[in-house]
Amino acid sequence: MNYICALKNTLNILKTTRNLVLFAVIPLLFALILPSCAENGTTVTETETETEIITETETEAEAETIPAIETETGPDTAAETEEETTADVTAEPETAAETTVEETTGEQTTEAETTTPPVTETEAETTKAYENALGFKADLSAYEKYMEPEDKDGYLLLVNPDHPLSKDYKPSDLTYIKDKREGRNDRLCLYAAKALEALVKEASENGCKKLASVSAYRPYNTQKYIFDTDVEKLMQQGYSKEEAIAIERKDTAYPGESEHQSGLAVDVLGDGMRLYEFEGTYEADWLAENAWKFGFIIRYPKDKEEITTYVYEPWHIRYVGRYHAKRIYDTGMCLEEYIEYLANNE
Ligand SMILES: [Zn+2]
Repeated sequence: MNYICALKNTLNILKTTRNLVLFAVIPLLFALILPSCAENGTTVTETETETEIITETETEAEAETIPAIETETGPDTAAETEEETTADVTAEPETAAETTVEETTGEQTTEAETTTPPVTETEAETTKAYENALGFKADLSAYEKYMEPEDKDGYLLLVNPDHPLSKDYKPSDLTYIKDKREGRNDRLCLYAAKALEALVKEASENGCKKLASVSAYRPYNTQKYIFDTDVEKLMQQGYSKEEAIAIERKDTAYPGESEHQSGLAVDVLGDGMRLYEFEGTYEADWLAENAWKFGFIIRYPKDKEEITTYVYEPWHIRYVGRYHAKRIYDTGMCLEEYIEYLANNE
């Protein structure tokens, strides 16, 4: 029996040893090995995090070179002129929130699409030399792609009494513009909005009293409201409807015939000025001489009233892109003449 007891004891010892190996030694080994695995894991994660940080830094740097995009999130609190506010309410049922989403999405897409590969040193030098040739005092390199668009023929839309826009025409890339009269919420097509920003920067560097938009994109219904209200007033003065319309057409564009509906035209004035005070000012002269460098033309020049059907408007500038703006400026043609010239010669 003692012998059997001894054997059992031995077996028990063996079992205990096995259990010890299974439940104590092996976990101990794991415990020793795992931390070093975990350490490796941490290293990998850190490297990934570093990569993310680098990417973020690049994005920030990129963001600095791209002009800040104005996204207005609040409700439309613009204290526009009484006429326009009323007209917007009646004519444009869009809520401010809807508009904001539309603008933001539209613009982000365009920014993504227009991202260009990194500029090589030579390209940068060429751009710099070109800018110097234009005599810019401000650094406008970030605006270059807007002032001289790749799609150089994409902004030649002609709007006048013979070429009206449809009631439903509305540009798809309307963007809130930065430099506008206090309380306004003016919008322009993206490229025109950015080019205007560059123009205002450079104008400030050249001693202009801060130029600002006093009117930009104007929807069909706003124009209709303005026109109809004025016709109504004239009829109250005793004119027939036909007479009133004829008189009003001399001053105000008929709905659909206003270039402001294109989102490519903007009225700019120096700080605190009124339309009738602008002609002959330093700002008006500077604008007439330099607007082309930013892709704009004086749309209704002094000596072209018979062709454009509009009196001289030194404040009304129209975006066409620099390539065509320079040619229009150099030749002295108005847009109607230039488009006819293109059709016959190119
Ligand atoms: Zn205008």
